[in-house]
Amino acid sequence: MDEGVFIYLSTMVFILGLSVGSFLNVCIYRIPEGMSIVSPGSHCPKCGHELKPIELIPVVSFLALRGRCKVCRAPISFRYPGIELLTGIVFFWVFLKNGFSYDTLVLWIFSALLIVVAFVDLDHRRIPNPLIVAGLILGILPIAGILLDFYTVYSGDWFSILEGMLIPTLLLLAFSLVSGLISGSRGLGMGDVKLYLVIGTFLGWHLSFLSLWIASVLGGLLGLAWLLFRKGSRHTEFPFGPFIAVGAFVSSIYGSEILQWIFG
Ligand SMILES: [Zn+2]
Repeated sequence: MDEGVFIYLSTMVFILGLSVGSFLNVCIYRIPEGMSIVSPGSHCPKCGHELKPIELIPVVSFLALRGRCKVCRAPISFRYPGIELLTGIVFFWVFLKNGFSYDTLVLWIFSALLIVVAFVDLDHRRIPNPLIVAGLILGILPIAGILLDFYTVYSGDWFSILEGMLIPTLLLLAFSLVSGLISGSRGLGMGDVKLYLVIGTFLGWHLSFLSLWIASVLGGLLGLAWLLFRKGSRHTEFPFGPFIAVGAFVSSIYGSEILQWIFG
């Protein structure tokens, strides 16, 4: 690809990611509250001022308004432009690895879903069922791609798809039940277990296991620090969703290479 064309396309992909990130902010805020993600339009939570299109440009509006509502000057969280930037970077990353392909389209949708899951879990310590249902519906895309042979993240037939959905989920379910019996507390939430139905559909069971392994290493280290240094209740739940999201994203991009490297 010509360098100029590549820079142009990358910029477009990045801007697409920023705009999708702006929509993900809405999803993260509204889905756990059971609110509609399409109406009403975005407004200031403090004064109710409805945002004009010019105030909805990702990142740019935030900088132009110096992080405050135009009307009441209430501060806007840095997280909004942060999630927009994160989505922009993630979209570019997927594009860089897969070019313009069906894989890219599916993995853009998959990573958008993971970003929402990560931040909702961080905020509420749960993964709401509507998110799982949305993930399973969007899972039609990788399933169709596998059956028609134009999705290359993993390959196979109906049986491989079922294996992807069921093996990691059932294993996690067993782990969750056993650890719950032993420790008397919920080590792993049912939301995390159900999330693996979705991850398994998009990644197949090999990459799902890898994602779980990455999540456990990252989450295990931070979970230990959490146990040692956290203040407050002993029973404050550790949010595992963000680690699963990182593990699943890394597996979706570098999974085959990592597995090849480990198993030769
Ligand atoms: Zn306001």
